[in-house]
Amino acid sequence: MKAEAYMERGERALLHTYNRTPIVFERGEGVYLYDVDGKKYLDFAAGIAVVGLGYGNPEFEAALKNQVEKLTHTSNLYYNVPAIEAAEKLRKVSGMDRVFFTNSGTEAIEGAIKTARKYAMKKDGTKDHEIIAMDHSFHGRSMGSLSVTGNPHYQEDFKPLLSGIRFAEYNNLESVKSLVNEKTCAILLEPIQGEGGIYPADPEFLQGLRKLCDEKDILLIFDEIQCGMGRSGSMFACQKAGVRPDVMAVAKAVGNGLPIGAFLTTEKAAVLVPGDHGTTYGGNPLVCAGANAVLDIFEKEHILDNVNRVGAYLWEKLEAFKEKHPEVVDHRGEGLIQGLEFAKAPGDIAAAVIKKGVIMITAEHNVLRFVPPLVIREEHVDEMMRALEEALGELG
Ligand SMILES: *Cc1c(COP(=O)(O)O)cnc(C)c1O
Repeated sequence: MKAEAYMERGERALLHTYNRTPIVFERGEGVYLYDVDGKKYLDFAAGIAVVGLGYGNPEFEAALKNQVEKLTHTSNLYYNVPAIEAAEKLRKVSGMDRVFFTNSGTEAIEGAIKTARKYAMKKDGTKDHEIIAMDHSFHGRSMGSLSVTGNPHYQEDFKPLLSGIRFAEYNNLESVKSLVNEKTCAILLEPIQGEGGIYPADPEFLQGLRKLCDEKDILLIFDEIQCGMGRSGSMFACQKAGVRPDVMAVAKAVGNGLPIGAFLTTEKAAVLVPGDHGTTYGGNPLVCAGANAVLDIFEKEHILDNVNRVGAYLWEKLEAFKEKHPEVVDHRGEGLIQGLEFAKAPGDIAAAVIKKGVIMITAEHNVLRFVPPLVIREEHVDEMMRALEEALGELG
């Protein structure tokens, strides 16, 4: 067992900010991962909804190898071709106008917050604007993102946070309306809440927020970091409701594992100008070459069709599972972002499923989360369901 020795070294060298599952992964192939002792796992987590194309896609890997040999970094003091191309492709699939590349999801949210503050400051000249975010939301771990994350447990030890953040009830338009005042500069939410337990927004809620923001001239910001890039069955989850935000944050599956995110704005919300914002690495040629390949492969390999077909199949199987097991209290989600809510925390179920060779994660404290690579097939759903049934059987 090589894993034990590595884990011991890891626990000594790495800051202990995670209670890690005792697996040391070495390589991946398709929708399977292999650990350092050669054990094979079906991946139903995709590195937390990141590895949409799975492992070892030849076109993705070739694009990276090609770029490594050419140029990996220039800084944003100059132009680079992969960044220009990736921005054009993101504009096309999102319907947004302008792109700022970041290195992570949380940085995309930071940029969205700065955009909202600047927009409002330009509008009325004052500097005490408020943002309305949602209960049970998750937007990242840096101080701004943490401030708009509606989970006191993550925030408590790090106060003071940004001031002027108010939390509304998700899917409750009246709750949002009751918090809007003349200081409000933005409404921020995930079109499908991920970490909070896989809660999709009602289309009417998103449409109502759009109308509200238009009436009050405040920015609507969607965090599509987890639910975007095809996971919901549409390229971005908000597109199902026909709602275009003023600012959209993306990351996770954009780079298929490379550290890249972005915030996208409409022309109206493109208020940041030279001196307002920056990043040393953001949008470097290497990660953008990867994002370019991802966006090309999405189109060529009809990833959305696969998400819709296999997502519907997974939905059926999980519905049947829910009917059969009274300990399952709810089943939610869209496409390949689904969750089963249990009456009690399913951590032991996830652990048992992993022992059977299927990687499984949870969300909130009582939800099993299904966010596999977007290239998964029906047979993989069957393989996962067998492990889940067996695990539940054994746990009684
Ligand atoms: C993962 C996630 C983030 C944070 O992204 P990082 O890359 O971890 O900073 C923000 N919002 C949502 C909805 C996420 O799922």
